[in-house]
Amino acid sequence: MIRAYLDNNATTKPASAVVEAMMPYLTDLYLNPSSVAGKVHGADSAIPSAKRAIATLMGNVDLAPQFVLTSGASEANSWVFDAATRVATPRHIVISAIEHPSVLAAARAAAGRGHRLNIVSVDRNGLVEVDALADLLMPETALVSIMLANNETGAIQPMERLTKMIRSRAPAAWIHSDMTQAVGKIPIDLEALDEIDLVSLSAHKFHGPKGMGALFIRDGLTLEPLVHGEQEDGMRGGTLNAAAAAGLASSADIAGHRLSDMERVEAQRNTFESRLMSGLEGVSINAKAVRRLPNTSSITIDGVDANDLVDMLAIRGICIASGSACSAGSDAPSHVLTAMGLPFDRARSTIRISLSRETTDFEIELVLTELVDWVVATRQEMRASA
Ligand code: PMP
Repeated sequence: MIRAYLDNNATTKPASAVVEAMMPYLTDLYLNPSSVAGKVHGADSAIPSAKRAIATLMGNVDLAPQFVLTSGASEANSWVFDAATRVATPRHIVISAIEHPSVLAAARAAAGRGHRLNIVSVDRNGLVEVDALADLLMPETALVSIMLANNETGAIQPMERLTKMIRSRAPAAWIHSDMTQAVGKIPIDLEALDEIDLVSLSAHKFHGPKGMGALFIRDGLTLEPLVHGEQEDGMRGGTLNAAAAAGLASSADIAGHRLSDMERVEAQRNTFESRLMSGLEGVSINAKAVRRLPNTSSITIDGVDANDLVDMLAIRGICIASGSACSAGSDAPSHVLTAMGLPFDRARSTIRISLSRETTDFEIELVLTELVDWVVATRQEMRASA
């Protein structure tokens, strides 16, 4: 049984209104949205609704035609890198060191095919080093990809400033931003961020269904498809998932109306941090000095094995995450934290908690109690055996 869920950056619980909105498309309206019957009976209506809702949430309903639905942010990210590098001549790509693995892997795959990849460093708070970025850019740079908010620390990049600088140095580059963790948590205005050409997102990060997301493609830009077929005007093939699109529409709608809930979430997050710091010695919060997502906290607890702590809490029905990414069976320390300058041992002592508008004060109390008790007991054992 799940007693406390503080792992909302991994995924969120679908809102009940979202599940309700999806149901008709899984029952009576199961028709193929692209078929004649599907169109006659309205099985296709969820697709434009989803685009209108996400466009509204991200600045203006008029942007709706510039969204293409995908299976999520990973597909959207892969599409961008594939389309930008599908040429024989080597292209220059720049990404930040703290991107999501789906961006890192896509960029490395492009480098493996002969394209030139530069990875720009971040400072100790996880913000892109502007001078280092400026030095890497050149007139022939083809793609720059920088996420808006980091999934591990919540650090938010000053995107308007960064993109203006990128545009001035690399006028022809496609500027891409993975906004997966920011959508529904902070206000986003794609009209104001007018230098950004491409944006990725996933519905399940804001109480929508898994396997549904979108790529925003700014007017005037054409991308070769990644998934070929006739749907979405030939831009993205595959039978459209009307139920998931209805879920995206509903979750985006609700996220827009409930954005102000994030103030309460931020207060809960701040309470958690200050209570933990007063309850335990050797606690530090990563990226605390910069603007962060209101729901996210990356916490280093001296001497603690974060994976052990996360496992122990999971057994007790408490869901949080560690800062380590398990790759190929090894417990590699988080690339995000190490890029910020944390030594391996501190990265391995880092947990992430991530709240949502559903988080209760009871959950906060429960996690605090169990976490503090475990750390105190473990430290005592360590001292006794030393
Ligand atoms: N980008 C970021 C920043 C993410 O946090 C995630 C999900 N962990 C993704 C991309 C990938 O999303 P999905 O798994 O839904 O494709």
